[in-house]
Amino acid sequence: FKIKMDEFELYEELGKGNYGTVQKVLHKPTGVTMALKEIRLELDDSKLKTIITELDILHRATSPYIVDFYGAFFIESCVYYCMEFMDAGSLDFFAGCDLPEDVLARITGSMVEGLKFLKDELKIMHRDVKPTNVLLNSKGQVKLCDFGVSGQLDRSLAKTNIGCQSYMAPERIKGESQGAPTSYTASSDVWSLGLSVIEAACGHYPYPPETYSNVFAQLTAIVHGDPPTLPDNYSATAQDFVQQCLRKQAHTRPTYKDLLAHPFLLDNATKDIDMVGWIARATEYRKTHPKMNVPALA
Ligand code: ATP
Ligand code: MG
Repeated sequence: FKIKMDEFELYEELGKGNYGTVQKVLHKPTGVTMALKEIRLELDDSKLKTIITELDILHRATSPYIVDFYGAFFIESCVYYCMEFMDAGSLDFFAGCDLPEDVLARITGSMVEGLKFLKDELKIMHRDVKPTNVLLNSKGQVKLCDFGVSGQLDRSLAKTNIGCQSYMAPERIKGESQGAPTSYTASSDVWSLGLSVIEAACGHYPYPPETYSNVFAQLTAIVHGDPPTLPDNYSATAQDFVQQCLRKQAHTRPTYKDLLAHPFLLDNATKDIDMVGWIARATEYRKTHPKMNVPALA
């Protein structure tokens, strides 16, 4: 079915990203609560068609580890993208809450399943794995959003604030600095996964604070420095998993199949982990312990 702007009742803003805002809305004809993402574009009309065609594969992207897609439409130079509303918010919100190892493993396992689905079923990489693109709900589910389905959409983004905290793998940073932005593969997503897992566990972007404030220092640390590690209250098994994801040589990083067979995730699916209870407690905790924002880079 087709979704139109005047069918929505608008609720509160859920967040702001680099390219636009995400709003909670009610789709009145169906009674479904959705998240509506507005993305500002710089483009001419001929490219709109390409984007709509490319976004179409999202209708095939049905997996318990991927946020559902409901449809997209254009108004002027913005694309509006309707997706499943995830009522617990994104992983960055929970970073720094007490994350027991089994909860961390369940979150990580869901991310790996989502990435594997994108690669095996849709033949795409995610390209933007980071805590704000990992969404949770009060049913205890963990799902990925904002993956790169549309090359044209990506090329048309009105990029205003590049830099910030980079989750890009070393080989991708090197490639882009040499003007070869496509010189990377699925293993670059594995790096970003490792970095996101550490951030969830330790509560902040995992490179040292002095690299937060300076794009050059940050990229230099990622390319030339030692990769960060998981806090030492996690087991040697968890440490090893993250270390493998953050191998600096892209081709030596594990595949998704390898990762799912790693002892950190192996018995994950069959284990009884109280995700619903943990999400409820962590949400309560955040009410009295608001998350400190790391200042964005100028
Ligand atoms: P970037 O612009 O670099 O992708 P971002 O991921 O933070 O950064 P958005 O994708 O615009 O930016 O999302 C903004 C915020 O909105 C997210 O941090 C998340 O907390 C919230 N959000 C996004 N999608 C949903 C959703 N489907 N349900 C609930 N909250 C969402
Ligand atoms: Mg996002």
